[in-house]
Amino acid sequence: MSIKAKLLIFALSISLIPISVITTLYYFNSRNTIKKQTLDWLTAVAESKKVHILSFLDAKKSQVIDFSSDGYIRNNLKIIMKRGSQSHVVNRLNKHLAVNKKTLDTNIEAIAILDINGKVVASTNKNWIGKDMSGEEIFTNCVSKNYGKAHINKAHYIPYLNANCIFIAAPLTGRQSKETIGAIINAYDMATLDEITTKRSGMGKSGEIFLIMRDHDDIVLLTSLKYASDTPLGRSIPMDSFDTELIRLALNEKRGAVIAPDYRGTDVVAAYLHLPDMDWGLVTKIDKEEVFASIARIKIFTIILGSISALLAITISIIISKRVAKPIHKLVEGTRRIAKGDLAFRIETLTRDEIGQLVTAFNDMTFQLEQSKKKLNDYMDNLEEKVEDKTKEITQMLYELTDKNKEMEQFLYVASHDLRSPLLNIQGFSKELQKSFDTLRPVLDESGIPSKTKEKLAEILEEDIPDALRFILTSSSKMDKLLSGLLRLSRMGNVPLTIRQLDMNKLISNVIETYKYTIKEAKVTFQLEELPPCRGDESQINQVFSNLIDNALKYLDSGKEGVIRISGRKEDGSIVYCLEDNGIGIAKQHQDNIFEIFHRLNPGDNIGGEGLGLTIVHRILNRHNGKIWVESEPGKGSKFFVSLPT
Ligand code: ADP
Repeated sequence: MSIKAKLLIFALSISLIPISVITTLYYFNSRNTIKKQTLDWLTAVAESKKVHILSFLDAKKSQVIDFSSDGYIRNNLKIIMKRGSQSHVVNRLNKHLAVNKKTLDTNIEAIAILDINGKVVASTNKNWIGKDMSGEEIFTNCVSKNYGKAHINKAHYIPYLNANCIFIAAPLTGRQSKETIGAIINAYDMATLDEITTKRSGMGKSGEIFLIMRDHDDIVLLTSLKYASDTPLGRSIPMDSFDTELIRLALNEKRGAVIAPDYRGTDVVAAYLHLPDMDWGLVTKIDKEEVFASIARIKIFTIILGSISALLAITISIIISKRVAKPIHKLVEGTRRIAKGDLAFRIETLTRDEIGQLVTAFNDMTFQLEQSKKKLNDYMDNLEEKVEDKTKEITQMLYELTDKNKEMEQFLYVASHDLRSPLLNIQGFSKELQKSFDTLRPVLDESGIPSKTKEKLAEILEEDIPDALRFILTSSSKMDKLLSGLLRLSRMGNVPLTIRQLDMNKLISNVIETYKYTIKEAKVTFQLEELPPCRGDESQINQVFSNLIDNALKYLDSGKEGVIRISGRKEDGSIVYCLEDNGIGIAKQHQDNIFEIFHRLNPGDNIGGEGLGLTIVHRILNRHNGKIWVESEPGKGSKFFVSLPT
């Protein structure tokens, strides 16, 4: 994932996560608060409407009771009861009711006076007069009560009054006897209740309050419905048409608050109360949508805020990521170009932040690299020149050295070869002289040389001449050996090499075979390991191992039994042979010198040798690109290592 994408995700997360968490919390908290406040408010409204309705009914009850104490009414009822319904009495009473009573309250739809038999004897409404209400609950309940009590019946539609009315009745009693002589019924227009429920201040646009009443399995609307104003009031309506949870709760439960569908099927937030005296249900409600409109606004606000912050976050992170990523891309590009060798490349930096510092450091590094490369190139150019010069010099020296070597070898050859002739003469003539002297001596003995002279000659003849002759012969013989050694050495450089794979087991066995007699005499034990083959000139390698075995046999320790061991192993692309003896050993300080020409550790020893054996070995190995080195300890023995190509 690119840095840009990472920054984008980071910015979005740090901006959107808190916003969404806070707004979600805020949303649910607001929702709960609003719900609670609305339910509390609706309950409070329902309570206040209940108080209003109950006080309204109480006031009307008091009014009816007040009317029932009217002496004029009671007197006239008595007269009617005594004398029958005389029209002038009835008219008088009707007029009294209409003029003096009904006018007191506009809510009164009609007033009726009933005799003790439940017959309407007088009324403000003609249609009511003559009705027999003896079987009606309002009458029976009323007459069973004492004076000063009022009875309210269920509100309903009264056909003969053609109005939705609530009947409130009070018993009428005789003025003295106080016995019940009839009843007065005030029919109050139910529209009055509507006045209470349609006052919906603080209920918003969709707020609604209504009163309902149960009528067996049906319901009766006591106040008009806001959204179904054509539904008749005061008449029994099948419960089915209003079969909602809300209506059932309002009619059955004491009080409560709920979010449920109303009669329209629309979800509402509602509070309901039961008016137990009347068995009425009061409902206050507001559409859920309206209640939570502010929440919806919060929702929209949240979405807008979220979108704006997301946009801002994206924009900012794009700007930042561009600022961050651009120099990084340039750095990557720069690294690629440098990798391709473009060390002159520099990255432009405009910022002083960490990335700016990185770019500066990168440019510095590139500059250093460029400088180093320049130096290196210069050095390389010089180096090539220098190497060329040196190679020329070395080649020249090599030529010179080869010439000198050849010259030297030539000289060596000539010297050793030419010196041998006079040496041979010296040796020959010395021997001749010896012979002559040997012949001369008896002659001298027999001759008549006086004894005094004989004595004088005796010292010369017996000591001086034989000693001198012996010395000449020994020295010339030694010189001969030295010269023949030198001759061998000088010849060696000229002999061409025939390099081939050598069976070393066979080669060593042949060498040992030549020393068979000496080995037997000296009682030396040979330990031979299986030897790996190597490449070399057979006769020369034979010479190498002959010299080494010769030395091992020559420098044995007389105090112990001689043991010589030969082994070989492969090592780093070459074969290393080891010739180990348990002889007298070589002191540390001599170990490097023994390969030099004529170098002997004990020149005066009886062991024959000219100090040339190891020099020859060294030369042969040099010509074979091989090596020789020694590990030795005086008194313990020596190990000569020979390395040869495979
Ligand atoms: P030399 O003819 O005297 O043996 P080399 O060149 O063969 O001459 O040896 C040089 C000297 O190295 C010898 O004189 C001897 O002192 C010493 N040397 C060589 N090989 C051995 C050995 N195996 N043990 C002890 N000394 C050795």
